Amino acid sequence: MKTSKRLKSACTCFDRLTTNGKSPTLSTSAPFVLSLSKGEHEVFQYPTRAIITGLAILALTFFFTACGRQEDKQAAKAEKKINVVTTVAPITSIVANIGGDKIQLTGIIPEGINSHTFEPIPSDSKLLSSADLIIINGLDLETPTVKLAQANLKPGASIYSLGDKTIKETEYIYDFSFPKEQGHPNPHLWLNAEYALRYATLVRDELVRRDPTNKSVYEQNAAQFLKKLEVLDQAIKEGIQTIPQNNRRLLTYHDSWPYFARRYGFQVIGAVQPSDFADPSPREVVRLIEQIKKEKVPAVFGSEVFPSPVLEQIAREAKSRYIDKLRDDELPGKPGDARHSYVGMMVENMTIMFEALGGSAEALKKVDPAPVAGAHADYRRKD
Ligand SMILES: [Zn+2]
Repeated sequence: MKTSKRLKSACTCFDRLTTNGKSPTLSTSAPFVLSLSKGEHEVFQYPTRAIITGLAILALTFFFTACGRQEDKQAAKAEKKINVVTTVAPITSIVANIGGDKIQLTGIIPEGINSHTFEPIPSDSKLLSSADLIIINGLDLETPTVKLAQANLKPGASIYSLGDKTIKETEYIYDFSFPKEQGHPNPHLWLNAEYALRYATLVRDELVRRDPTNKSVYEQNAAQFLKKLEVLDQAIKEGIQTIPQNNRRLLTYHDSWPYFARRYGFQVIGAVQPSDFADPSPREVVRLIEQIKKEKVPAVFGSEVFPSPVLEQIAREAKSRYIDKLRDDELPGKPGDARHSYVGMMVENMTIMFEALGGSAEALKKVDPAPVAGAHADYRRKD
């Protein structure tokens, strides 16, 4: 009866095994007897005691595993995790690093698609209406998502924008793909590790405010993550010192590097992608080829999300290397991989960039990309 009591208290689903509300009893003495508590004893006699013991252990393991899963679900329900929805994958990764397993987290914008033109589908309103907290980059990156979120916000829920709390309007950058006359600043703040650090502190404070029960967990995770970001920032600075001064210039297809350039002493000499995401005009193409030749830019960079035959052609005609591997919001690897993280994305970008511009990526080897609090996030993928 001792075994039976333990089972019962450990697991409510064991009750389903009882007959007439009474628990079955298990006797370990031979012959092996399973009492069905109806008063009818069924006696099983097997050739060896070893088989019987093995079967009993298997059965117990099965019950405890099944019950364990049910209890996990019940515990999660009882814990009432706050439901957080984010937008682009780097922000999802930053939030995952701090929230760990204390939050329910979904990134709404699939990796590998153009986040600047992403429009949520009507069924996304269900996800947005279930969120307690929607964390966005802001600076007009996710306008259609924000509109749908506003229309479906549940009582008490809120939209939290990181970008506008990170820099002042006077620090906004307008450029080729994000011209001032259109009124939308360049939104790619997170490619500057200092701003990512600011994002992380904002996320920590907002999660603590929303869910003070888990304050110490958020603070511990954030402390570790901030340290990691400082190591990353330092490694980028060190790596850049190995690039000849004259090569610290960027020509990219997608215009996502101006805040990076401002922090680390690069010059963005141009971006090929116009603000309407169409191809540049033939005149612009000729101008860029001339500029690359004149300034002897060793490499030009495309991105995986925007394959660009035009930039490839520009590079070929200007006799510069074309590298189409930079990412601004698609994390490398697959969800669950250590490098599938914001830090992993930066390490990969910097390695590609430093080596192509005549520098060394050695300093980046000391940066561990793995998320500090595990990979507890639902990342959507393009395919
Ligand atoms: Zn972008």
